[in-house]
Amino acid sequence: MTLLSVSGLEAGYETGQVLFGVDIDVEDGELVSLLGRNGAGKTTTLRAIAGGTEPTVLGGTIGFDGQELSGSAPYEIASRGISFVPEERRCFPRLSVVENIRLAINHAENPKDIETVLEFFPELSEMREKHAKNMSGGEQQMLAIARALAANPRLMLLDEPFEGLAPYIVRRIEDIIAEINDQQEIAVLLVEQNVAAAVAVADYHYILAEGRIVESVSTAQLRANEEVRQRYLGV
Ligand code: ATP
Repeated sequence: MTLLSVSGLEAGYETGQVLFGVDIDVEDGELVSLLGRNGAGKTTTLRAIAGGTEPTVLGGTIGFDGQELSGSAPYEIASRGISFVPEERRCFPRLSVVENIRLAINHAENPKDIETVLEFFPELSEMREKHAKNMSGGEQQMLAIARALAANPRLMLLDEPFEGLAPYIVRRIEDIIAEINDQQEIAVLLVEQNVAAAVAVADYHYILAEGRIVESVSTAQLRANEEVRQRYLGV
């Protein structure tokens, strides 16, 4: 079943239009990446799905579980089952691991319990009282994903989850995302510039260039197609 169906999405800012008809489908339980160079419009696409003041949606439809999402407030979109982990991670720096996750639980309609969440993050489980501000970038990224998982979503939107992290942490977060997807049957749409990490974790890939989807390919097709990688991704 198609869980998320973005069709002809047009969106932009006061400074101008950025998306010119984006089509993305995510099936229930699927792990999909949205790839593209700097400024292609990847973050704009995720923000349009997650709702909020920016960007302005100018056209197209965003269907989720058979209902239209665009125009809904971010809390309504979250309560329908979409968790968004923005690039800047947004953990509360002066709160502990447990307090950060509890806040997410308190804001969710049908949350998971904290022990279920922490099972996926043994590293966090060992630093329950540590404040987010004293944690490494990789630990903070884990905490941001833990907070998103606590809301018990059907779809997780992850904006560059591997950015700025050391290779061994990238591997670890790839594993966590794959485990959550697999064991909790949560669909994932992740935005990446790190093509290797996206290929390692996602089953299917959309490539965005200048606000349009120019290719949609399986992992095997993306691996095989050097021309696509060169032209749109520079790798
Ligand atoms: P990046 O990897 O750099 O985040 P991206 O593919 O996610 O790239 P977006 O962040 O969606 O790209 O940006 C697409 C375009 O929209 C860029 O030209 C950017 O300057 C512009 N843009 C992004 N956010 C805003 C904003 N808040 N106001 C005005 N323009 C913006």
